[in-house]
Amino acid sequence: MTIEYNHLRCIIDLDALCDNYTLLRSRVPETSQVIAVVKADAYGHGLEACAHALESLQGKEGGEPVMYAVGTAEEGANLRRAGVTGRILLLLGIQNPEDTTLCLEHGLTPVLSRVAQISPLAAAAEIVGTSVDIAIKFDTGMARLGLTDADIPDLCKTLDSRPRVEAVWAVTHLATADAPDDEPFVREQAERFADNVAKLHACGHKVYATMANSAGMLGYPEFALDGVRVGIALYGANPFLGTSWEEKGAGLKQVMRVEAPVYQVHALKRGESISYGRTFTAPKDMTVAVLGVGYADGYSRGLSNKAQVQILGKRAPIVGRVCMQMTAVDVTGIPGVEPGQYACLLGGDGEQAITAEELAAWWGTITYEAFCLLGMNRRTYVG
Ligand code: PLP
Repeated sequence: MTIEYNHLRCIIDLDALCDNYTLLRSRVPETSQVIAVVKADAYGHGLEACAHALESLQGKEGGEPVMYAVGTAEEGANLRRAGVTGRILLLLGIQNPEDTTLCLEHGLTPVLSRVAQISPLAAAAEIVGTSVDIAIKFDTGMARLGLTDADIPDLCKTLDSRPRVEAVWAVTHLATADAPDDEPFVREQAERFADNVAKLHACGHKVYATMANSAGMLGYPEFALDGVRVGIALYGANPFLGTSWEEKGAGLKQVMRVEAPVYQVHALKRGESISYGRTFTAPKDMTVAVLGVGYADGYSRGLSNKAQVQILGKRAPIVGRVCMQMTAVDVTGIPGVEPGQYACLLGGDGEQAITAEELAAWWGTITYEAFCLLGMNRRTYVG
């Protein structure tokens, strides 16, 4: 979904994306694949454009094909149509017959989370005279999708009887990698996963193993295994910001910048209120700028009287409620603000830039959600 009708600018810096990939690549051993997680339209950054940019790194980075992880088969098919030839992991696996068709047609690698999903896939591969690589998802503590230890004998038997389906990767997902205090649970999951993979190997199915997300790879280099699946760090957010491990995620560049135009600048006299519900009353004579952004653009009403924007290089706090398509900010101490100029809601210039982490904190959410929602706006690309 894209929000087509508003005046926002969502600017995606593809050079920053590539720099982040290169930085992350340098943090794991050569033997570990860096799997670019581009699900959910690349966390709102644009699936095809991000993949194009990452593909251009192949030549520069010594020819290693970039491996991707998408959410849905449709996203995988779109990556193929955009020219991606490397392996594409389909994280949500096969959930309907169309997914099977797209997997076989486009050579996607579905992450299967139930043994019962293997035989229908094998039968479909048989009909079209092809074979299919799969990944096996193990649930080691996230309790969403995946096989457990008890499923492994059945898994091995099924794989043995279905030669058109080959297990090439084993996947698990960490629940607490971004919380240093929860390190023991990360290690518990790692132990369970190592055991799952060893059992799969013991029954003759040699698979590559991937466990770490962004926080997992930055926080636990020893768990890079055969591949790391990086999403949020690729888009420039430090998963450890505000924790004792903050340094481990330093040096990433924010990829998304969102700007809204100034529609009007006017005085708000001491004692006057602004916007719906009169939640803000001017404590002194003020100047406010009304911006062209609101909750219809994914800029949550929960940011009312909380968030700040950057305008002419300075911070301006929101005053009053965020409306559907307009939001007012206090520009009293910022001379020269005029209609037609743009304010940064996310990103910006210099030390006063709005970071994804602070926006998420004002919002009461995480950077992931802020990117996904603001990234639904029409995007332009630089770099
Ligand atoms: N792997 C799986 C299975 C995921 O669901 C996600 C994201 O939610 C990732 C990897 C990437 O995680 P992150 O964005 O924290 O790097």
